[in-house]
Amino acid sequence: MRITNLNPADEIGASSWLVDIEDHSLLLDAGLHPKLEGRHAVPLYDLAAGREVDAVVITHCHHDHVGSLPLALRHFPGAHVLMTELSYFLVERVLHNSVNVMQRQRVEAGIRDYPLFTHDEVDEISSLFQGFRYNREVEWAAFHKARAGASSPMLEFLDAGHVLGSAGVRVAGKRETLFFTGDVCFQDQTLLKGARFEEARADVLLMETTRGAREIPEGFTRAAELSRLMAAVSAKLEGGGSVLIPAFALGRTQEILCELALQMRAGTLRRQPVYIGGLGRVFTEIHDLESRRANRQHSALRLTEALDLQVLDQAKSASIKLNGKLFVITAGMMTEQTAAYSLALRMMPSEQHGIYFVGYADPGTPGGRLKQARRGEPFQFGETGAKVTRQCEVRDFDLSAHANREELMALVEQVGPRAIVLGHGDPTARAWFAEQLAIRHPKIRVHDPKPGETVET
Ligand SMILES: [Zn+2]
Ligand SMILES: [Zn+2]
Repeated sequence: MRITNLNPADEIGASSWLVDIEDHSLLLDAGLHPKLEGRHAVPLYDLAAGREVDAVVITHCHHDHVGSLPLALRHFPGAHVLMTELSYFLVERVLHNSVNVMQRQRVEAGIRDYPLFTHDEVDEISSLFQGFRYNREVEWAAFHKARAGASSPMLEFLDAGHVLGSAGVRVAGKRETLFFTGDVCFQDQTLLKGARFEEARADVLLMETTRGAREIPEGFTRAAELSRLMAAVSAKLEGGGSVLIPAFALGRTQEILCELALQMRAGTLRRQPVYIGGLGRVFTEIHDLESRRANRQHSALRLTEALDLQVLDQAKSASIKLNGKLFVITAGMMTEQTAAYSLALRMMPSEQHGIYFVGYADPGTPGGRLKQARRGEPFQFGETGAKVTRQCEVRDFDLSAHANREELMALVEQVGPRAIVLGHGDPTARAWFAEQLAIRHPKIRVHDPKPGETVET
């Protein structure tokens, strides 16, 4: 088996892997780097120029896994596009939203490569998408090979518990097997239940390593962390201040909304409207519609009915009164010219308000800089403009939807691979795994391919 790392950067970056197994080729994920701009954010598809790729498989609908799918299909026009049925309900929304964001950035930031693809192109490729249930074997050979009666390798999606529709992928040829974790969360979240990877065994394990550099503090539990967050939210609102929780539109937003709905139902949080972003609203509706299909808790709970959800756009965010409001606004990185950015800017001067992070924010983004800023000390929030000073409360809550490193080490035991390929992590995160695997599993060959590098496993 040959595996090529198409991620354009030596960090978490964009997930995309080219796999050659027996007589077939498969592209696993077609992500877009969330921080790099224009063409530089696109996986190294040129390395596969002229190659026939039988199928493109998408693990889940986060931008860094699916954001360049239309570009991948320009390179591999004959490929099937396979994903879970839950991802199938999300994928077009995600791609059309990307076009909107890129069109805006072309105007606002003058990035001339944007948009990298168009709404029409998304519509044209959508007929290639196929959605499958978890735990079903699927044939994925190119149509002409299947017609010629050649034996087809199989693949199977296993529930990864990371976001709605997320999957690990087991690829089985005649002689060897691969298991790709995608992004995985083993613990139950408030809404989604944890991964179901119990059946995963493979010769080669391709593994995410996002949290490799992060040790879990003694006694840490997700439940206790959630209680701390909800207590902080309640205290600020009771004091008449507003609370902003920046969260990705897909996944984290619904997890937080679910927790808020439960607290309001229990009477531990005062009932009041919750302001969310437009895309967050769309994904929340899809979570409600698909609640029976997903492997989740509180499946009778409809977020759109349990909560008074109000959509807040950027224009409104500049004028809305900040008297005890609750915002769960789409923003991984709190990019400029977004509602989350302008709300944060308005909330910063007063200690009455609270901004509570519940996920990763890159240090090189406004969100990351705000996280690090000390109270009362001026700091550079946006890329340009004057320095600002924060007086409001800023806290960080660890509610990651990624496996911690010891959980992934336990997965290694279970999968029992002869080789491991490390991916989707920053260099320090991958280094921790490389070192620990060498100590604990000296017989397993560990590969840490650089961008563009092919490993033979
Ligand atoms: Zn993800
Ligand atoms: Zn990811």
